[in-house]
Amino acid sequence: MPQYTPPVRDTRFVLEQVVGLDRYANVPGFANATPDTVEAVLEQGGRFVADVLFPLNQSGDQEGCTRHEDGSVTTPKGFKEAYQQFVESGWGTLAAPEAYGGQAMPHVVSTAFQEYMVSANMAFAMYPGLAHGAIAALIAKGSPEQQEKYVPRMVSGEWGGTMNLTEPQCGTDLGLIRTRAEPQADGSYLITGTKIFISAGEHDLTSNIIHLVLAKTPGAPDSSKGISLFVVPKIMVEDDGSLGTRNAVSCGSIEHKMGIHGNSTCVMNYDGAKGWLVGEEMKGLAAMFIMMNAARLGVGLQGLGIAETAYQNAVQYAQDRRQGRALTGPAEPNEKADTLFVHPDVRRMLMEAKSLTEGLRALCLWGALQVDLEHDAGDDAEKQLAADLIGLLTPVIKGFGTDMGYKIATDAQQVYGGHGYIREWGMEQYVRDARIAQIYEGTNGVQAMDLVGRKLAQNGGRAVQAFFKLVADEIVAGKGNDATADVATRLEKALGDLQASTMWFMANGMQNPNNVGAGAVPYMHLMGIVAVGVMWLRMAAAAARLKVAGEGDAAFLDAKLVTARFYAERILPNTGALRRQIEGGAEAVMALPPEMFVAA
Ligand SMILES: Cc1cc2nc3c(=O)[nH]c(=O)nc-3n(C[C@H](O)[C@H](O)[C@H](O)COP(=O)(O)OP(=O)(O)OC[C@H]3O[C@@H](n4cnc5c(N)ncnc54)[C@H](O)[C@@H]3O)c2cc1C
Repeated sequence: MPQYTPPVRDTRFVLEQVVGLDRYANVPGFANATPDTVEAVLEQGGRFVADVLFPLNQSGDQEGCTRHEDGSVTTPKGFKEAYQQFVESGWGTLAAPEAYGGQAMPHVVSTAFQEYMVSANMAFAMYPGLAHGAIAALIAKGSPEQQEKYVPRMVSGEWGGTMNLTEPQCGTDLGLIRTRAEPQADGSYLITGTKIFISAGEHDLTSNIIHLVLAKTPGAPDSSKGISLFVVPKIMVEDDGSLGTRNAVSCGSIEHKMGIHGNSTCVMNYDGAKGWLVGEEMKGLAAMFIMMNAARLGVGLQGLGIAETAYQNAVQYAQDRRQGRALTGPAEPNEKADTLFVHPDVRRMLMEAKSLTEGLRALCLWGALQVDLEHDAGDDAEKQLAADLIGLLTPVIKGFGTDMGYKIATDAQQVYGGHGYIREWGMEQYVRDARIAQIYEGTNGVQAMDLVGRKLAQNGGRAVQAFFKLVADEIVAGKGNDATADVATRLEKALGDLQASTMWFMANGMQNPNNVGAGAVPYMHLMGIVAVGVMWLRMAAAAARLKVAGEGDAAFLDAKLVTARFYAERILPNTGALRRQIEGGAEAVMALPPEMFVAA
C-alpha cells in the first residue's frame, strides 16, 4: 500500500526562505496569513488530506464513477462523506474573498494546501478545483446578480462548478465551437449543443452544479471571435435562493479513461438549457481565460503533487528492497544483498525526482506569490512586474511542471522494477493519473506555443527581459558566496543558453514561423530548467545562511545544499542540448511528406 506524508517542513522552508512570506505582512491581501494561521493550514490541512482523502485514492481509482440510467453519477465509495468533511472544515474557502464567505488567505498559502490535496487524491481534488475556476470567472466577469446568486454557495462548497469548452470537433481550436445560444425575451438564452470531456460535469457531491459554457449567439462570426460565455445551473435557482426545477442539461455518458477514475469526465448534453450571458457577448474567450490561467497553474501543481507522492514511495521502496551489491563492495556484508539505495542508477532517478520536485514546489509557490502581488502589491510597478512574470511563466509551470511530474512518476515506478507495474503497489496509478495533466487545460505543445509565439514578444519582450534580470541578479549574488558560487556559475551558463535561444527565435521566427513551432517545447523546457535553477540557487543560499547562523535542522539544510549541487551538475547542463535543438530549426522537422512517416 502506498504512503503519503505532507511535506510540511519543506513547504515552510519555501514559504519562509524563497517566498519570504513575512516580508508581505503589511500588504493588505496577506493580512490573514499570520505565521500561526499558515502553520495551522499546513499542519491541519496536511493531516486532513492524509487521514481523509489519501485512504480513498486507491479504492477510488479501482471503483471509478458510475453513471445511472437517469443520467445521475455516483462518485466512488467514501467520496461523498469526505467531501462533506472537506466543506465542513472550510478547506475549500481558503483563498476566496471574505465578501463571498471565504477566508481571504493569499493564493500562495492555499496553493500549498492544494498541492497536498493533489498528492493525496488528485481525482477528488479536481471537484473543488473546477469550482474554483468557475468562481474566479464569475467574480471577474459576472453581473452583481449572478455573483450574489451563485458565488457564495460555490465558495462554501454547497454547489459545484464546471468549465465547458470542448466539443467532439473542437478541442484546441475553440473557433470550431457549434453550441448555440438563442436569446429569449426575458434576457436569458437557450443553450443547445454537446460538450465532451467535462470534468465533474455530473456527480453526487453537491446539491447543484453551476456550469460555465462557451457557445455562439446567432450571427456571431464563425471563429473564436464569436464565442460568448454563459452560466447554466443544473438546477434552476429561484430569486429567493431556493432550488427550483431541473434545467435541460444532462450527462449523456461518462468516459472510461486511463487515470483519475474517481473524477467523472462527462459528455454533457444541453437541450435548450436556460443560461445567462456572463460578461459581454462575443467576449467569452477572454472571460474563460481568467478561469484558464488560474487552472493552468493548478494543473502545473498537479504535476508536482503526483510527483511528490510517487517519489516518497520510491524512496521507501529503495530502502526496503534488497537486490545485488554496491559496485564498491557489499555495503551490508551480513545481509544477503544490499538495498536498492546503493545503486547509483537508482540514486540517479531518486535524486532527479528530489531535485525536480522540491524545485517545482518552490517555483509553484513563488508563482502563486506573483498572482497575489499582481493584485495586492503596494505599488503599480511591483504589480506590473508580478503580472509580467506570472504571465510569462504560467505556460512553463503548466507544461514543464506536468512533463516533469509524469517523468518523476514513471521514474518512481521504475525504482520498483516489475512491482511498479503491478496494481497493488499503487505506482502505476500515479503514472496513469499524472498523464492527463500534460493534455488538458491546453496540451503542453499548446502551452509552449503560447510561451514562444505570444508571451516572449508581448510588450516588446518586457516580461522575458524582467525574467532574465531576475535570474542574472540572483547569479551575481550567488557568485559572491562560496557555498553557492558553483551553482550560480552553472546557472549563468544555462541562462546564456536561454538568452541565445530567445535571440535565435527573434532572428529566425519571422522568416519561418515553423522555426517557432519546432523549437517551442524545447524552449519551454529550457526556461523551466532555468526557472527551477534560480529556485535552487535561492534555496542553497538560504540553507548556507541558516547553517552559518546555526539555525534550523542541519541535516535538512545539508540535504538542500547537496540537492542544489546535484541539480546544477546533472539537470542544468541539459539546457545546452535544448538550445542546439532549437537552433537546428524546422527544416528536418517539416521535410517529410505525411505518406513517408510510416516506414512499413
Ligand atoms: C480527462 C479529461 C478531462 C478534461 N476536462 C475538461 C473540462 O473540464 N472542460 C473542457 O472543456 N475540456 C476538458 N478536457 C478536454 C481537454 O482540454 C482537451 O482534450 C485538450 O484541450 C486537447 O483537445 P483535443 O483533445 O481536441 O486535441 P486536439 O486539439 O485535436 O489536439 C491533438 C494534438 O494536436 C496538437 N495541436 C492541436 N492544435 C495545435 C496547434 N495549433 N499547435 C500545435 N499543436 C497543436 C495538440 O497539442 C495535440 O497533441 C478534458 C480532457 C480529458 C481527457
